Amino acid sequence: MSSESAARRTAAAAAWASEAALADAWAAGPGGPLRLADGRPLRVVFPGVPGDGTGPDFRGAMVDLAGDLVRGDVEVHLRHSGWFAHGHDRDAAYAGVVLHVVGANDLPLAATPHASGRRVPVLELPPPGALPGFVPPCAFARTAGLPVEERLGRLGLRRLRMKANRAALLAAERGAGEALFALTAGALLGPAHRAAAGALQGQLRLAALLDLAGSGDAAARRLALTAALRPAIAGVPAAAGRRRPAAAPARRVEALAALAARWWPPGAGAAWPGALAPGCGWQAAAGPGIGRAAAIEVMANAVIPAGLGTGAWPESAALAAWETLPAPGTYGRLRPLERWLGGAAARPFATAARLQGGLLLQTDYCERGACGRCPLSPPAARW
Ligand code: SF4
Repeated sequence: MSSESAARRTAAAAAWASEAALADAWAAGPGGPLRLADGRPLRVVFPGVPGDGTGPDFRGAMVDLAGDLVRGDVEVHLRHSGWFAHGHDRDAAYAGVVLHVVGANDLPLAATPHASGRRVPVLELPPPGALPGFVPPCAFARTAGLPVEERLGRLGLRRLRMKANRAALLAAERGAGEALFALTAGALLGPAHRAAAGALQGQLRLAALLDLAGSGDAAARRLALTAALRPAIAGVPAAAGRRRPAAAPARRVEALAALAARWWPPGAGAAWPGALAPGCGWQAAAGPGIGRAAAIEVMANAVIPAGLGTGAWPESAALAAWETLPAPGTYGRLRPLERWLGGAAARPFATAARLQGGLLLQTDYCERGACGRCPLSPPAARW
């Protein structure tokens, strides 16, 4: 590399204050014209959603590489060499990266190699201010008079029915209480600990756990349940990334044990818990290790879907609880969508139902490059 080009690359990297600033610029969906390090033109159809810290920086992006529509993950580094410094070239979690966005290409490489044999196209993103941002049609939904909240709510309802169908299938196989327990384990462990949740759901049955818990006081039963649950997640790799201690799998298992001890007292059997009367609020799921946000997640992903799907709750009670459940907060991956829909002040995701609708919108439309064809594209933007 000549000293002149080395100086240019140092200046390019320095133009970005940090890798986070570079990632923010990518998340905003840079407009064109863009050109890859190998010379091909690039158009951003959808920048993807921020990852959960366990793999690539963005998931579900869609880009147009010289006329080829490509969907996959995007990794961001201040410098090209960061890919190798972080060991991504040998990491299977990065095999789905379709674009490597760098602040400066400090290597004599026009593509980034991965051990899978793939060569990932490289984009050196021009410095801040050099490009117009990506503005999808949904940014004009409100001014076009689209009922944003109503459409998010309708999408959220569709997601509830999908979850309820899964609960019904589980209940047909195991019974309503077992279905609720399995879904609660999944909700508490969360998508970041999918492997641990799968281990719990696959190996354990509530009836057997309750037998092990015995008929002592609540504290003794909670300890017995924790001891019975722990082996199921032993050896399951913990999700990478920085996480709050309260969200660690071991802590979540303790919280699940406390909840199970309370929901299924001695002699109650593994049926639907009496503590979860139709239409109960999120407070019914709160307790040791389960704060407001986690309790809302349990309601949205386990109690209400299971109540509806198993028939333990009348449909009217389930739908009323769904409509009134507050959101636990906007997920990081939905922040770009929130910004396009008016920002946090407009509160498009103020309820759990609308938040769930946002997730469905993202997976079924945004991540499939459906700008102009999604329910939040104004008619004038459709093609
Ligand atoms: S698919 Fe719709 S909601 Fe998603 S970014 Fe495009 S216009 Fe917005």
